[in-house]
Amino acid sequence: MTDCLFCKIANNEIPAARIYEDEHTLCFEDIDPQAPVHLVLIPRRHIVSHAHATPEHRQILGHLLAAAADVARQEQLTGGYRIVINTGADGGQTVAHLHLHILAGRPMTWPPG
Ligand code: 5GP
Ligand code: ZN
Repeated sequence: MTDCLFCKIANNEIPAARIYEDEHTLCFEDIDPQAPVHLVLIPRRHIVSHAHATPEHRQILGHLLAAAADVARQEQLTGGYRIVINTGADGGQTVAHLHLHILAGRPMTWPPG
């Protein structure tokens, strides 16, 4: 996608503080952190949202969750962390490229806002 912010980050057209990458995913620091650690993990492939996932995306969805565990280990998030996938308007999604938020460094509250 030429007009997608996260595709542009993945393609090095927009800078980001990258902390992890592999063949299928890329993880970088959120520009507006909501916790001491706030990372965004994306598939390199453009998928609009979690609601747009189809059977052909099963492998990448599994890979994303596994990569999140790798990121948590790499960043030594030993106190725990929260993974969030905002989806669609009611889910609070603002960037239309599927992404996981990885939040850590403070106790999280429940229910979320
Ligand atoms: P969403 O609201 O769609 O779940 O999450 C989008 C996230 O992307 C937000 O937390 C927002 O702060 C982050 N974000 C928006 N623009 C940029 C940017 O240009 N660079 C980085 N690193 N993060 C961004
Ligand atoms: Zn994209």
